[in-house]
Amino acid sequence: MTDKITVLVPVYNEEGCLGETHRRLSELFKTLDVRCEMLFVNDGSSDNSLSIIRALAQQDPQVSYINLSRNFGKEAAMSAGLDLVDADAVVIIDADLQDPPELIPKMIELWREGYDNIYGQRTERRGESAVKKLTAKYFYKVIKRVSRVNIPRDTGDFRLLSRRAVTALRQLPESNRFMKGLFAWVGYRQIALPYQRDARFEGTSTFNYWNLWNFALDGITSFTTLPLKIASYLGLLIAFSAIITGSFIVAKTLIYGDPVPGYPSLMTVVLFLGGMQLLFLGVLGEYLGRMFSETKRRPLYLVEKHHRGSASVDEEPPQTGVKG
Ligand code: UDP
Ligand code: MG
Repeated sequence: MTDKITVLVPVYNEEGCLGETHRRLSELFKTLDVRCEMLFVNDGSSDNSLSIIRALAQQDPQVSYINLSRNFGKEAAMSAGLDLVDADAVVIIDADLQDPPELIPKMIELWREGYDNIYGQRTERRGESAVKKLTAKYFYKVIKRVSRVNIPRDTGDFRLLSRRAVTALRQLPESNRFMKGLFAWVGYRQIALPYQRDARFEGTSTFNYWNLWNFALDGITSFTTLPLKIASYLGLLIAFSAIITGSFIVAKTLIYGDPVPGYPSLMTVVLFLGGMQLLFLGVLGEYLGRMFSETKRRPLYLVEKHHRGSASVDEEPPQTGVKG
């Protein structure tokens, strides 16, 4: 029996790209000596993506799809795909053709050499603004500093995962799914595959700066508690300097008497400490909020329909992404 490879494509409003993505992938499949499948995960698109996927699945037995009950976000869409897939290796690729499918044979080659996680690493980001490049650069710097898991720089979700890596990912119970971090957390044999990231084939990115900022916060809070520790150390530092200043003032008063100045300095200290306290209450809140959503243990996604290409089973009972 030859190996089976599934190419997992999360889709959210990609009607303009899907035809081309399907064409490029099927061209590629013809050249591969493994059994291939495309698995589209429709993440609640509000355009015609679903009907296009359905039509593709009707013509082409290599196409399977999962339709989620609404838009759950890319991380959940990928988790749904990884949970429901049955393949020896899974390649995750964006529907907008920013990641070249032509890299997949190289990934398969490395997989056969025994690697479990072959991730595309961008050498160049075409069609992205200077601000996005800069913020991305600093995000990777910060996360590298603060987290014990080594999350590779300039790496997206474009990668090949072996069966055991996929099985490991399924076991992770958290609902806050910062996938890049989780891929790295799993470990096993990982290797980077440098490539040039193209501009989108069609349409615009759904990730604006506010989304990216929240995404970065998710990444940092789910991989380190350092921000919480900073509060303790900063508190210690401030308390210590207060003792020193206090003794200095006592000594000064004893020697020179006390004419009671100091309104401005008092104000500065009060505002500074007030600001610090609010800031760290906010940091606490970020973690608390995430704990809140974890404790609810809601499923990560709901499956409306899972169509397996060429397999006879079509209708599935509704599946949910409850973990653990
Ligand atoms: N995507 C998704 N759900 C969402 C947003 C995006 O499945 O809520 C998919 C989208 O269809 C695409 C991939 O995630 O295949 C990457 O999205 P996008 O190109 O907007 O992001 P960028 O390339 O800018 O990171
Ligand atoms: Mg994109």
